[in-house]
Amino acid sequence: MSDCIFCEIAVGRSPAAVEYEDERVIAFADLYPIAPVHILITTKKHIPSIAKLASEDESLVGHLVLVAKKLAENRQLEGYKLIFNVGEKGGQVVPHLHLHLLGGWDTKPTSLPA
Ligand code: AMP
Ligand code: ZN
Repeated sequence: MSDCIFCEIAVGRSPAAVEYEDERVIAFADLYPIAPVHILITTKKHIPSIAKLASEDESLVGHLVLVAKKLAENRQLEGYKLIFNVGEKGGQVVPHLHLHLLGGWDTKPTSLPA
């Protein structure tokens, strides 16, 4: 989708600090980080949100989570949060499926973000 910023990043038409990429997913630094480490892991396929997942996407989403785990290991994060915001009322602003990897705090963070 050409009017989707994450699709544009996935095909290299918009800039991003890419951390990882394969044929199914791409991970890049969040432009407005809310944690010392804040990486977005997104699917290259345009899926608007978790709410629009089809059963055929099951392994893709599993892969997305495993890439997040690998990135956390690479950053040697002892603990981290993985967050999907779902829908406008769930705080989702960019309507393209993405997983937030948040971590790197010195102290224990609150259990849930505001
Ligand atoms: P969400 O609220 O779950 O939709 O999160 C969208 C995230 O995308 C926010 O944390 C934004 O800071 C981030 N974001 C928006 N545009 C860009 C961009 N061009 N490059 C990197 N991150 C972005
Ligand atoms: Zn998209």
